[in-house]
Amino acid sequence: MNALRHLRGRRVAVVLAAAAIVATPTVALAGDSHPDNTRAADHAIQGGRARNVILLIGDGMGDSEITIARNYQVGAAGRLAMDKLPLTGAYTTYAVQKDNPSLPDYVTDSAASGTGWATGHKSYNGAISVTPDGKPKPTILELARAAGFRTGDVTTAELQDATPAVLGAHVVSRDCKGPDAMAACAVNAKENGGAGSIAEQLVQTRPDVLLGGGKQYFDQTVKAGGFQGRTVLQQAQANGYQVVTDAAGLAGVKGDQPILGTFAKNNMDLEWVGPKPTRTGTAPSTCAVNTARTATQPHLVDMADKALTVLDRQTRHSRKGFFLQIEGASIDKQDHAANPCGQIGETVAFDAAIKRVLDYQRSHPDTLVVVTADHGHTSQIVEAPTLGYTATLVTHDGANMTISYATADITGSQQHTGTEVRIAAGGPQAANVLGVTNQTDLFFTMSRALGIR
Ligand code: MG
Ligand code: ZN
Repeated sequence: MNALRHLRGRRVAVVLAAAAIVATPTVALAGDSHPDNTRAADHAIQGGRARNVILLIGDGMGDSEITIARNYQVGAAGRLAMDKLPLTGAYTTYAVQKDNPSLPDYVTDSAASGTGWATGHKSYNGAISVTPDGKPKPTILELARAAGFRTGDVTTAELQDATPAVLGAHVVSRDCKGPDAMAACAVNAKENGGAGSIAEQLVQTRPDVLLGGGKQYFDQTVKAGGFQGRTVLQQAQANGYQVVTDAAGLAGVKGDQPILGTFAKNNMDLEWVGPKPTRTGTAPSTCAVNTARTATQPHLVDMADKALTVLDRQTRHSRKGFFLQIEGASIDKQDHAANPCGQIGETVAFDAAIKRVLDYQRSHPDTLVVVTADHGHTSQIVEAPTLGYTATLVTHDGANMTISYATADITGSQQHTGTEVRIAAGGPQAANVLGVTNQTDLFFTMSRALGIR
């Protein structure tokens, strides 16, 4: 019991410092109530237009990643904010082969999957909102903006990373993040008459809110056209963006100008650190706050809060609401890195953003909220050390949870998986996520709800 109490104390410290979610008391392991949910489900099914659509993408957040984070943070019988959406389905995530688009590529990356949910078209791994023949397709954000909605795109990755990129850029390779990185996208380069790199296209698409990392690409110099010789950041400012680079700047944002918040050179820093998996496993341990995290970077929940506040204010007197995407990006990146606490900390931080969005929805029930992933990933809860690499964590339950990474060597990058993933929703037309749908259906679910399709 003393050992358990000691553990609890450490856990509270983690939770408070992460400013994420307040740990709920451990509930009975069997769950404490067994209501008949028929009427609640019936009540949750509503049609009509959505004034706002908020899409939350947990990159690489398959069922396994959700379960790992839940067990650790709130216990096996606990429930995360993302578990509380009223309607849940699954969707298939496959890409298509570039050379033969009639054949599936069973394991998607974030670019092909993002192209799927952002445009309604299947494409190849690496495609940023272009079809396999390289043709741009309009995105949900672009269509919403053209129809008079305000728009936002928020991530913990570089803003030029695949998930945020698919909403406001069209290039043949996800690698083409800035004017100096166009080797794989000659056809898209400004100097060849194209629309430019992802960074350039994002500020040309001009969402009202752009928040994330990737400052290095905004600092690159435009090579042709009206902004030749100026940086992408200067181009953004000339296009009306107010630029902020830290949490204090973000908190102080005022007025109606679009906001470009770029808070890190690359991806934003991790929330948590912890043990590194080994071939024979680790001693049971707990995660800790990442004390090396740059303190001036906002947390995802801070960015979500600001995006909601700004977009809500901007649309208060308008007939049209907003479309907002919020990504928990480094769930995927830390799964690639076989870093269980890194992965869990990012999932918990993403869940805090979901909680903030669900609080907003409570007072704005004409908002469709969708929470999903773009693809599955490696991590698995296992019984004992595997042929791969494992680490054991002591969870909120006070029990040991062993997590395996077994799709690559520890020095390499763990792989995505081709599984279907959860899609959950609440609000107008949320019923369109029920059953087993396709990733591309999400584009139609969102655009129909906004009345732009
Ligand atoms: Mg992503
Ligand atoms: Zn990935």
